[in-house]
Amino acid sequence: MDKLTIVDIDKDNYLQVFARYDIVLDHGEGPYVYDNEGKKYIDFLGGIAVNVLGHAHPALVKAVAEQAGKIIHCSNLYYTEVQATVAKKLAKLSGLDKVFFGNSGAEANEGAIKLARKYGKTIASDKVEIVTAEHSFHGRTLATLTATGQPKYQKGYEPLPGGFKYVPYNDFAALEKVVSDKTCAVMLEPIQGEGGVNIPDTDYLLKVRQLCDKYGALLILDEIQTGIGRTGKMFAYELFGIKPDIVTLAKGLAGGVPIGAFIASDKVAAAFTAGDHGSTFGGNPLACAAANAVLTVLEQEKLLENAQTIGDYLISKLNELKAKYPALITEVRGKGLIVGAKLTCPGRDIVNSCLSQGAIINCTAGDILRFVPPLNITKVHVDEMIAILDKTLAAV
Ligand SMILES: *Cc1c(COP(=O)(O)O)cnc(C)c1O
Repeated sequence: MDKLTIVDIDKDNYLQVFARYDIVLDHGEGPYVYDNEGKKYIDFLGGIAVNVLGHAHPALVKAVAEQAGKIIHCSNLYYTEVQATVAKKLAKLSGLDKVFFGNSGAEANEGAIKLARKYGKTIASDKVEIVTAEHSFHGRTLATLTATGQPKYQKGYEPLPGGFKYVPYNDFAALEKVVSDKTCAVMLEPIQGEGGVNIPDTDYLLKVRQLCDKYGALLILDEIQTGIGRTGKMFAYELFGIKPDIVTLAKGLAGGVPIGAFIASDKVAAAFTAGDHGSTFGGNPLACAAANAVLTVLEQEKLLENAQTIGDYLISKLNELKAKYPALITEVRGKGLIVGAKLTCPGRDIVNSCLSQGAIINCTAGDILRFVPPLNITKVHVDEMIAILDKTLAAV
């Protein structure tokens, strides 16, 4: 089928909720994707921080193919070795105790919210409030879009679930005014992704941790975007010297196979007993085989170190562009391979122009170029993307 036919079929038959770019992707290899007309793109979006091993990584392909030939799905009424194996790895890596698998980020957060509520009620019947940050992003289900501190995602879906309060991100004084004995959890991204790659002050999360402890509130960290090595640490909270009570994961965890997870301390996890939560697909053997492969390759190929080194290189190259185009780029920020560049104009035209020249990048929060490429890219790939961005900015 040619591109226009596919686009037409989509417009006629698919819910038009995505403002899609005008290409049809067909296959990928490493940090490159190819459209159905054979055009090659360097991929610095990675399926929005999902394709941590790039495209068609042999170890991931092999793990998924082998598992598919064995058993793709069985119910959570039974044990599987691969699910137990990934749960053990994640518990150890996180420093927490009990894992639950779902199928998406929103589901991971939904589960974390449910667990926090149940836990809160073991202390007091009115310990149910959840405090989240403005400009956060936690998902699209009713509870998670309510947790998301951006009215644009909530408008039209009222009545929203109750019990959520919002504070400005990285403003400890504001949080102190809102947290009380009624707070069951504070829920934050350690670095806000969708909100614009917003990095908090180095001591913010430590102070939040101490405040939560003072009121017996849980700290839920949404690491759906920052987790699984993206910041150069397995979990971004390691950058800030703290540990949450619950951490949520999804995007990169299985390298592109749908998965979500929350991991809780034993103390908190004990609030759930048999029947309190569940999922038909969550943690099925296919998704767990993929996650297992991702965790193995991250270690074998030293991708945390690579994310840090190449992330620093990407930031230095973007800073060169900032120096060259001070009227267009005002700030470059990031940790490892989650990097943002603040523009003085909306980013959509720049993203489109890069796309037509063969580079997939992203714009979030209107004017922040966001780079969340695979974790196994090299300097050569950075140079390739930067050259296209340079040409694009020169033409603005
Ligand atoms: C993407 C994202 C989500 C939602 O994940 P879905 O898989 O789209 O439901 C939640 N939180 C953060 C921080 C995200 O980046």
